[in-house]
Amino acid sequence: MPYEYDDQNIFAKILRGEIPNDTVLETEHSLAFNDIMPKAPAHVLVIPKGPYVCYDHFALEASDAEIVDFNRAIGEVCRMLGVRPGEGGSGYRVISNAGSHGVQEVPHLHVHVLGGRPLGPMISSR
Ligand code: 5GP
Repeated sequence: MPYEYDDQNIFAKILRGEIPNDTVLETEHSLAFNDIMPKAPAHVLVIPKGPYVCYDHFALEASDAEIVDFNRAIGEVCRMLGVRPGEGGSGYRVISNAGSHGVQEVPHLHVHVLGGRPLGPMISSR
């Protein structure tokens, strides 16, 4: 079944400028902004500007330019946050939730970039 994109989701409204956001980075195809309820000292959401529901949707249907731009934006956010281990930072975690088992709340692809403290185990075992 093809994905159906709901253009009334909160990130679509942010992209249209209907809801304010705390922008960290904007590129041709991507936007990065601080999460409204941060789970770590650094918690940035990176989203593509295109109407993609989740990661596999984007990976299958986005253009090469969008995919490159999005991945470069994630890397640039890591650099801006000062969390890159390769540059003396203490590391970070990139998460993208999808669907009900992934506990995705907003049906527009987003990657969480988290850092600024030890983040603990990846997931609980139950
Ligand atoms: P999900 O569970 O879908 O992976 O995560 C959605 C994230 O979006 C949550 O971390 C939540 O705090 C964040 N969020 C929800 N509404 C808003 C909003 O209006 N602005 C911002 N900046 N973040 C939001």
